[in-house]
Amino acid sequence: MTILRILVFPDPRLRKKATPVEVVDDALRGLIDDMFETMYAAPGIGLAATQVDVHKRLLVADISQEKTDPYILINPQLLEKDGVIVSEEGCLSVPGYYEEVERAEHIRVSFLNRDGAEVEMEANGMLAVCFQHEIDHLDGKLFVDYLSEAKRQRIRNRLVRDRRHQS
Ligand code: ZN
Repeated sequence: MTILRILVFPDPRLRKKATPVEVVDDALRGLIDDMFETMYAAPGIGLAATQVDVHKRLLVADISQEKTDPYILINPQLLEKDGVIVSEEGCLSVPGYYEEVERAEHIRVSFLNRDGAEVEMEANGMLAVCFQHEIDHLDGKLFVDYLSEAKRQRIRNRLVRDRRHQS
């Protein structure tokens, strides 16, 4: 397995809209394994393919402390949203920043699993937040888009500056 390079905001590739996965094959399962390894190593609780510069509708997540509850969502679709939850979100593509974002507290989502079978499930609370955050990535959207323009600019400027210092 390989640890993939994670794109960092304001990289324009994070704004690309991902296209549906057409075939769930071994190549895709290899990418899924690499995405899990990358997410766990970071460490993070969710990773969308967009963040590793693969523009397919695919995400992985695991919100458990023990890293024992992995989810793979291929071509995820939000079917229902209900309730409101405000929680502090972070993102592997916006390292070092945590801000409050409002999301639906309960969702119903459909997707293909690792074997290409259709699955429908409900998610609540933190898992629902995680799925909504990652599905946003597939549409080129970041959690900083929910913040004020001034706050987003501040984060953007700092990340650009940090990056310059690194290279
Ligand atoms: Zn993210």
